[in-house]
Amino acid sequence: MSVTPLMAQYTRIKKEYPDTILLFRMGDFYETFEEDAKIASKVLGITLTKRANGAAEDVPLAGFPHHAIDSYLPKLVRAGYRVAVCEQVEDPKLAKGIVKREVIEVVTPGVAFSDKLLDHKKNNYLLSIYGDGERYGLAFCDISTGEFQTYETDKKLLPEQLGLINPAEILIPKKLKNLLEPLIGRYAKDARITKIDDWIYDFDYCQDLILNHFEVKTLKGFGIENMNLAVSAAGAALNYLRETQKANLPHINRISVYNPTEYMALDYATKRNLEILFTIQSGEREGSLISILDKTSTSMGGRLLKRWITTPLKKLEPILKRQECVEELFENKSLRKNLREELSEIGDIERLIARACTGRINPREVINLKNSLKKIHLIKQLLDQSSAETLRQINDNMNPLEELVAKIENAINEEPPASLHDGGVIKPGYNPELDELRSLAFNAKEWIANLQKEERQKTGVSSLKVSYNKVFGYYIEISHANKDKVPAHYIRKQTLVNSERYITPELKEYEEKILNAQDNIAKLEFELFEQIRYQIAAATERVQTNARLIAMLDCFLSFAECAEQYNYVKPTVDDSDVIDIVDGRHPVVEQILPPGEKFTPNSCRLSSSEDQIIILTGPNMAGKSVYLRQIGLIVLMAQIGSYVPAKEARIGIVDRIFTRVGASDNITTGESTFLVEMQEAANILNNATNKSLILLDEIGRGTSTFDGISIAWAITEYLHENPEIAAKTLFATHYHELNEMAEIFPRIKNYKVDVREYGDKVIFLHKVKPGGADHSYGIQVAQMAGLPVYVTNRAKEILLNLESKELTPYEIKKEKISRIRKNDEMQISLFEMKDEELRKEIEDLPIDSITPIEALNKL
Ligand code: ADP
Repeated sequence: MSVTPLMAQYTRIKKEYPDTILLFRMGDFYETFEEDAKIASKVLGITLTKRANGAAEDVPLAGFPHHAIDSYLPKLVRAGYRVAVCEQVEDPKLAKGIVKREVIEVVTPGVAFSDKLLDHKKNNYLLSIYGDGERYGLAFCDISTGEFQTYETDKKLLPEQLGLINPAEILIPKKLKNLLEPLIGRYAKDARITKIDDWIYDFDYCQDLILNHFEVKTLKGFGIENMNLAVSAAGAALNYLRETQKANLPHINRISVYNPTEYMALDYATKRNLEILFTIQSGEREGSLISILDKTSTSMGGRLLKRWITTPLKKLEPILKRQECVEELFENKSLRKNLREELSEIGDIERLIARACTGRINPREVINLKNSLKKIHLIKQLLDQSSAETLRQINDNMNPLEELVAKIENAINEEPPASLHDGGVIKPGYNPELDELRSLAFNAKEWIANLQKEERQKTGVSSLKVSYNKVFGYYIEISHANKDKVPAHYIRKQTLVNSERYITPELKEYEEKILNAQDNIAKLEFELFEQIRYQIAAATERVQTNARLIAMLDCFLSFAECAEQYNYVKPTVDDSDVIDIVDGRHPVVEQILPPGEKFTPNSCRLSSSEDQIIILTGPNMAGKSVYLRQIGLIVLMAQIGSYVPAKEARIGIVDRIFTRVGASDNITTGESTFLVEMQEAANILNNATNKSLILLDEIGRGTSTFDGISIAWAITEYLHENPEIAAKTLFATHYHELNEMAEIFPRIKNYKVDVREYGDKVIFLHKVKPGGADHSYGIQVAQMAGLPVYVTNRAKEILLNLESKELTPYEIKKEKISRIRKNDEMQISLFEMKDEELRKEIEDLPIDSITPIEALNKL
């Protein structure tokens, strides 16, 4: 069956973009066809129709007007699709046969510039992974800012790296699909996976791509010459960026080696459990640590703060350097206030410069960039007062780019239209040719009136008129009565009933000028704007440096501002093995307590040599989890350079914070709570060192009490007895049986969260004190929760009964075991009555793998 030429063209282009929705420009519309049309109609809520296709079958079609692309395209990308924009690349009027069309850009979740797709406080990363199954090369790039980093890592660390980078899209080689897809599904589940042909990762090909892109001769300058896997990952990323963008990307002007060993590893569980970027319950930023600590004034600062919070430092010196800046800005209130004021007027120059480099910047954005750059001069003046080393470096390295600012100021109108097409972008006085064209276009009426006046005088015909029509353009009209006064150089064009119409060479010349003026103005404005854009692009590296320095300054200011607003103190950070917090608070909970309630500060001392493990007991709702998390957060805050919510704090740097907190919601993945809990515990025991901080909340709860106590005991004992992983540990539990451990193991200490009893009720004091809880108040809490009185009264009776036996957990366990034995004996005698065959069959049952239901059925 023969198809129409248009559909043939479509099919040819579509073939080059598999796995991509093709927006096919047809006149004033973007159309989608076939499967794409079905997706587009669903995602965008547009009508699905059919298009006739010659002798072939009709094809499904869905389209939208071209001006709606700015809202429709981001919707498709946000839904996880790649979208190719295919334009008409010749004037339809001039086309012979079918109009030429080409894909001009592919937008994907990880490769986007549009404001509608980007969150200004968040980097949008494309991650590329390549590996041999044991080691992996990773490269991540944010095309909207130009950041590009690469490194290599072991298989074991891949999950936490995925969580850390939190990419929008991940490129993987097809051959590693089975290995990587499940991992990504688990640790970077929001990312789109794009599978790339294996040959793209060829080392030589990738090396060449990198050398060409950065216009260098060797990889040595980047320090990746011995990192073959990283080179392949980075090369594949570059290849993908170029393919989608169809352009050079000059703003990606360096690739740096990311060094994960400089940072404290925060695995996914810890980031989640400490609610660093979002809360567990709502998944929203509101109520997370970052929502409290982010007082940045710029987008660049916001993005950097997010990175700092998720990558705390492990080395003392850089922490102290940050602290020095925060301290100075904290102490010098007026400097802080003034700097924050200036920063609040700085736009996202990091993304603006990327837009300038890729030809996307519009006139308003140029003015935004210019006004932002203008602030740098003022910021430098303010920073002249500072003495902290890093602040001085920021000052020294910031570049006010005065020449560029002046150029833009001379050329571009202060309030230009958003689109270059609307005209009026270039300032009067900037370019004489443009001024002349403009005066021509704007003054046409006046010129005609003048000409009319002059010709009337010259000819003495007072009724002479200069007019315009579409057929003849400008003409001079003189009535038949004055025919004899028409000068010789007038050229007759048309005879009417009462008059004649003439033209003159001068008039025709002018006419052409006016008619071309609009076109020429648009062309010239475009050219002049492009010149400015080139000059801006030429300053890319300097603008990017400014952006980085502003981001840092903004973060320091944010920390200093928090310190004042929330009453934080500067912690003493050192390389000791001590964590000593006096009257610490939970940075988030203290801010969101209901009015009238006050946060109860609590102290904590941990040290590897004396107080290595704290067993914290107390009833539910007493404040155990809050206490645990607050210690973790205070340590984290200290290691990002921030002040901390406490009266005093000394923090010996930790290499990792591990958490096992509360019931996990992994239940949705089909794994039992207990299994997940044990996997997380295994991860901790296998990776902790004696520099780590471990926060355990209610471990062993997902199983029977006796199993739970036994496991919790054994884990604690292991942490105490094994010098290599003798990590500082806080263990919240309601198994007060574990308090016995403090008597046996010297570095285990008991603490409890205090409650006060009033008759039948308990009052939560949230105060952590030395000692073990002897009572779990479970029944009182149940009563407060509204359980029927019959149930709570009966529970009290049962409890009394149990308690009156005064059995220790071991005795209870012994009793239980002997009960089980008795049952066994009974069962054996039961079997003896049956015949041998049946007995054999039951004995052969695979009791390790059979489910209780299957067993029951079998019996
Ligand atoms: P637990 O883990 O012991 O069951 P939580 O730590 O979840 O209890 O605390 C229960 C509630 O008590 C929290 O939601 C919080 O509102 C409040 N709370 C906890 N600690 C404090 C504190 N130190 N000061 C004031 N309120 C607190």
